[in-house]
Amino acid sequence: MKINHHFDEMVPNYLFADVARKTNEFAAAHPDMTIIRLGIGDVTLPLAPVVVDALKQGSEDLRHQNTFRGYPDYEGYEFLRNAIAQYYQGFGVTVHPDEVFVSDGAKSDCGNVGDIFSQDNTVLIPDPVYPVYVDANIMAGRKILYAAAGRDNHFLAMPDPDVRADIIYLCSPNNPTGAAYSAEQLQEWVNYALENDAIILYDAAYEAFIRDDLPRSIYSIDGARRCAIELCSLSKTAGFTGTRCGYTVIPRELKREGQSLHALWYRRQATKFNGVSWPVQCAAAAVFTPEGQRQCRENLDYYHRNAEMIASALDELGIYYTGGKNSPYIWMECPDHMGSWEFFDYLLHNAAVVGTPGEGFGEQGKGYFRLTSFNSHEKTAEAVDRMKRLLS
Ligand code: PLP
Repeated sequence: MKINHHFDEMVPNYLFADVARKTNEFAAAHPDMTIIRLGIGDVTLPLAPVVVDALKQGSEDLRHQNTFRGYPDYEGYEFLRNAIAQYYQGFGVTVHPDEVFVSDGAKSDCGNVGDIFSQDNTVLIPDPVYPVYVDANIMAGRKILYAAAGRDNHFLAMPDPDVRADIIYLCSPNNPTGAAYSAEQLQEWVNYALENDAIILYDAAYEAFIRDDLPRSIYSIDGARRCAIELCSLSKTAGFTGTRCGYTVIPRELKREGQSLHALWYRRQATKFNGVSWPVQCAAAAVFTPEGQRQCRENLDYYHRNAEMIASALDELGIYYTGGKNSPYIWMECPDHMGSWEFFDYLLHNAAVVGTPGEGFGEQGKGYFRLTSFNSHEKTAEAVDRMKRLLS
């Protein structure tokens, strides 16, 4: 018996464990100080009332003989796929309900989708990045190339015509940088993918945070239906991080080697996934009702206000950053050329504010720091005041 030795190639990721340890040590040494956490990548506001009502009703359905449900459809109930297709229509993108696969979240899908592709493919991943893309492909034994993002491209990696890749992960608005691609930039990626016979795995988990006139979906770009799979999530859009629901879109016409990727993914899901529970799909459908959208928007606006507070403080301090406008994340350059961990310690010890060192998201994250808007207005305002006092 042999284990999968590709696990040996993974860099141990102690990022959040180290952040927690250092924060706890500081808290124990300074019991009088109130620590403010702006490192959190999880939502903090409760679910929208209309979502909870649907969740309750869905659970109640399971109590009664005539409304009880067993195994759900592998690809999700039709009413939810219709609602998702209509949601896309709301920002001018046509996606057919039968191209939507409901899942338990984007994290599983962004790793699992690799099952339909050969291990021999080369994967191109922007750096810095959501670490799941990297680890999932190391586990699968694929060769990984990195597309560097940095100040010169405002943390939006662009294709290099000299680099040949088969699978490309893009995430916009991005975690950790908060940067979001324009239609022109995405068109360049789509053109590159079409020229290279590559597939783009487009992670749109933060699309609901977009405020500017920027693409909410890769399918608003010409040619994307022939080269892209879109992954999306209700985690940040609607606070489903604990409730678990997401969706993946695979256009019917998307083919490689003459085979439909939609058919391959259906087969994969039917083999390894038994669907999302009835109450959760009812709750997810409630997100897409007009009242659900209104209530979820209130939460998004709340986070957005926090992001604005942080961004305007950085503007005042003259610190370079990306994100904050179309994203819950603010990605700032560490002042005075400090390293990511050096700045983490400096901010913790002098302002009792916790963020996330950028180097935890890749080589290019060195010297950068991620702040998030997932906290209360009061605490965010207090953190911002402390940062202004410390850094001005
Ligand atoms: N994709 C990105 C870029 C994320 O940042 C996250 C969560 O932090 C996910 C996917 C995971 O989403 P889900 O909660 O739907 O699994």
